[in-house]
Amino acid sequence: MSINIAIDGPAGAGKSTIARKAAAELGFIYVDTGALYRSIAYFCVSREVSPEDTSTVVSRLDEITPELRFIDGVQHVFVNGEDVSDRIRTPEISLAASRVSAIPEVRQFLFGLQKKIAAENNVIMDGRDIGTVVLPDAQLKIFLTASPEARAKRRYAELCEKGNAPDYEQVLADIIKRDKDDSERAIAPLKQAEDAVLCDTTELTLEESIDKIISMIKEIL
Ligand code: C5P
Repeated sequence: MSINIAIDGPAGAGKSTIARKAAAELGFIYVDTGALYRSIAYFCVSREVSPEDTSTVVSRLDEITPELRFIDGVQHVFVNGEDVSDRIRTPEISLAASRVSAIPEVRQFLFGLQKKIAAENNVIMDGRDIGTVVLPDAQLKIFLTASPEARAKRRYAELCEKGNAPDYEQVLADIIKRDKDDSERAIAPLKQAEDAVLCDTTELTLEESIDKIISMIKEIL
């Protein structure tokens, strides 16, 4: 049986960086499920389908083949064979991903893919509903969070590093909006699973957060 670790939490809590490093150290596959929702959003935005136009988004799902490929240990996201790993990381795609992720048919569409990867591999999977919906039987569930301001500062620094010139107040507003949308949606809202361990990284450095998560995982192995 494969080992499944679920890490959920709001945008900017450090899930992906922490999960990626922990997976590399433990020899697990890191699965970034947000990238799958982003790939659906990318398809819509690049075809001028509004993420709000639910019926059109749903009617075009069968044209989308999202894929996670691991090249030299690094996850690449493909949509219909095109590597969109960088293109899905814009603020526009973040908000569009949040929108399409509220559509039940989109969640259902991605559910099978996530289950399959987790059944076939030892994974650390991060997202919003991994512990509650996708992998309810995960051997370890972690709910990773931090204050909105701490998360906005990290996201701001990340965008600056990539050569963007973001506006901090806008980054914070986007984070608060996504938290609200993700937590209040009717289907698979962002919430801590009852049996998840809460980990607040507001006061922790990235290195401290990574160490903490790795030691939690090692404890159950
Ligand atoms: O994690 P990331 O910020 O890349 O996710 C983008 C969006 O995808 C989130 O704001 C959320 O709306 C959605 N998502 C989700 N369920 C997941 C992962 C991401 O609804 N398991």
